[in-house]
Amino acid sequence: MTLEFSPLPGALTAPIDEERPWVVFGACRDIEGDVFFPLTKDETDKALAICASCPVRLECLEYALEARERYGIWGGMTEKQRRRLLRRSA
Ligand code: SF4
Repeated sequence: MTLEFSPLPGALTAPIDEERPWVVFGACRDIEGDVFFPLTKDETDKALAICASCPVRLECLEYALEARERYGIWGGMTEKQRRRLLRRSA
């Protein structure tokens, strides 16, 4: 079954399926996706602060790592932080 909402950054073009039911609990569910593709440090800090209060942060991060999401903030980590984490775990 495919759900019709897509509250995660970067997922606007991809349908969210039942394998990721946690997205409805994301702290970003009512926030513009652009917020999670920051251009400045201040914007990055703002997005990370939202993720810090997110009850599904770990699920989101796990998804982003498995899907090799290259851009944006997912699971409370920047793309650079995720790349570093993936390199360390390789
Ligand atoms: S961790 Fe951040 S990007 Fe992921 S669902 Fe929560 S608020 Fe959204």
